[in-house]
Amino acid sequence: LLLNARRMPGTANREPHILLAFEDVTQRQELERHKDAFLAIASHELKTPVTSLKMYAQLLRRTYTRDGDEKAAHMLATMEEQANRLTHLVYLLLDTTQLQAGTLLLQPTIFDMNALVSTLIEQVQHTAETHPIQMEGRIQASFKGDPDRISQVLTNFLSNAIKYTPAETPILVRLAEEAEAIVLSVRDKGKGIPVEKQASLFERFYRVNDSSQTAIPGLGLGLYISSEIVKQHGGQVWVESQEGEGSTFFARFPRDGAPH
Ligand code: ADP
Repeated sequence: LLLNARRMPGTANREPHILLAFEDVTQRQELERHKDAFLAIASHELKTPVTSLKMYAQLLRRTYTRDGDEKAAHMLATMEEQANRLTHLVYLLLDTTQLQAGTLLLQPTIFDMNALVSTLIEQVQHTAETHPIQMEGRIQASFKGDPDRISQVLTNFLSNAIKYTPAETPILVRLAEEAEAIVLSVRDKGKGIPVEKQASLFERFYRVNDSSQTAIPGLGLGLYISSEIVKQHGGQVWVESQEGEGSTFFARFPRDGAPH
């Protein structure tokens, strides 16, 4: 049973009162549970065949490239690219179902955040030459967290900055140190996000409903997963954006926030 209570102010001919609304949500909850269970099973079952497709496409592409069959190699490169996309989508769904079930667990270690950020920028730059990515700032102290999951957050911010801004616009990654935390941010000079949409960006399956953006494929899960990962580290994510100017996505991690 869902209960909503609202205090109603009084008027000239009515005393102030409280309005109570009841709604039976059993069926809605049941549906949600079925949907979550379906997503969990589907993404789990898709993982193995997709990984195997990806591996064989890669192997065949290498073989045909070595043998000089350019046409076959080109087709296999496309197949590999699509298999990579599919793998990425399956992992987004898997992470989401694990977050819902509370089974996505961090594996914290002490690691070099500066090195992680610069290596990752190099990797992303290598695959997306369209946008120059710059890095600014370093942190001094060591940091404890889950490096794979933090890489995932940065990759997501970066790939969005690439996806949603025109080619050749620069992207700036910044590492900053506060007394008790470190802040990682990614700034782009894209079209920005309307103020009224900003609060929903980190919700599950949310995408800004704009025709130029709906042409860009996506599930609306990246920012949700990123925000949950940062929360699990005891931190928070937020966005500062102005239409026509661009957006900056922030992730703040407390130094000692990661579970021990
Ligand atoms: P997806 O990219 O798969 O849609 P995300 O959760 O990563 O999912 O992003 C949610 C939405 O936020 C996107 O659909 C897009 O509308 C908006 N968005 C995210 N990053 C940016 C950005 N850098 N500039 C403009 N819009 C963005």
